[in-house]
Amino acid sequence: MNQTKLVVIIPCYNEEKVLPLTAPMFLEALQGMIDKGKISDESRILFVNDGSRDDTWAIIKVLAAQEAHFLGIAQSRNRGHQNALLAGLMEEKGYADITITADCDGQDDISVMEEMVDAYHNGADVVYGVRKSRDKDSFFKKWTAEAFYKLIRKMGADVVFNHADYRLISARVLEALAGYKEVNVFLRGLVPLVGFSSANVYYDRHERLAGESRYPLSKMLNFAFDGITSLTIKPLRMITGLGLGIAAISFLGVIWAIVMAILGRTISGWASMTCIICFVSGVQLICLGVMGEYIGKIYMETKQRPRYVISERTFAETPGESDATDK
Ligand code: UDP
Ligand code: MG
Repeated sequence: MNQTKLVVIIPCYNEEKVLPLTAPMFLEALQGMIDKGKISDESRILFVNDGSRDDTWAIIKVLAAQEAHFLGIAQSRNRGHQNALLAGLMEEKGYADITITADCDGQDDISVMEEMVDAYHNGADVVYGVRKSRDKDSFFKKWTAEAFYKLIRKMGADVVFNHADYRLISARVLEALAGYKEVNVFLRGLVPLVGFSSANVYYDRHERLAGESRYPLSKMLNFAFDGITSLTIKPLRMITGLGLGIAAISFLGVIWAIVMAILGRTISGWASMTCIICFVSGVQLICLGVMGEYIGKIYMETKQRPRYVISERTFAETPGESDATDK
């Protein structure tokens, strides 16, 4: 009998339509791996209810009551996908030998979990689920999603291209990850920072089995900006570069103005003056905005607020370190 305890962590936000469809699929995959002796029978599927407003939590409680492999925890309110993942991961620290995080909507190919576990047994501490193609996505989603990865990488954050949050990590990676105490969590950037040996498995991303995506473009843009500013300070460097460039141009402008004054041709010039003022003040405001974003992040970090608060569990709490304040 294999002793490796796997916990599959599944964040759920208003997923009452899709959860009854995917929960048995996850269970089947888990059972299959247990039967093949790849993981221990003490492996679990942990649903993290992220403050859903529909019947998601009620469904999770019924699932947990019916089947010992299902567990559930509930966040006290909606905190977003990343925080839900973090809550689930930290909950299992000390119990799981390996964790896999997967979306609840069936988009991440569930059968690939076995390949991830195989890769772990072959020595990888981190296994990234990478999308093969985005044929099922609309052109717009595909284009914006790929631009998102390119932008983040250009900005100096080390993320795996076309990898979202479908990944396996080992207990020692989880332990190391717990040492990253930041409030602004961007897991797909943090895990590569932690290091250790990694492998990729490739899968086709399916369409959502039911319900709707909770990531419209506006959320994606926020997510990209948050990701960049929480992982790297490259935008600040770029501001410095921009400032130097503009200073050089301004220097030429000053020489130009002096030459014009000497030549006595300074009557006209309203248009050029206005353009310069508008341009420079625009640039300054953008730079202030970027710096403000960092100051805001520093502010949030200094508060050291709990990163998640668990309000309910379907099981008796296991001892272990956690950020939750309700203990
Ligand atoms: N999710 C969450 N909290 C949120 C938004 C989403 O826990 O505030 C979960 C959601 O239930 C799903 C996963 O995160 O399991 C991915 O969300 P979604 O499928 O809406 O995003 P997409 O796949 O369209 O990028
Ligand atoms: Mg989805």
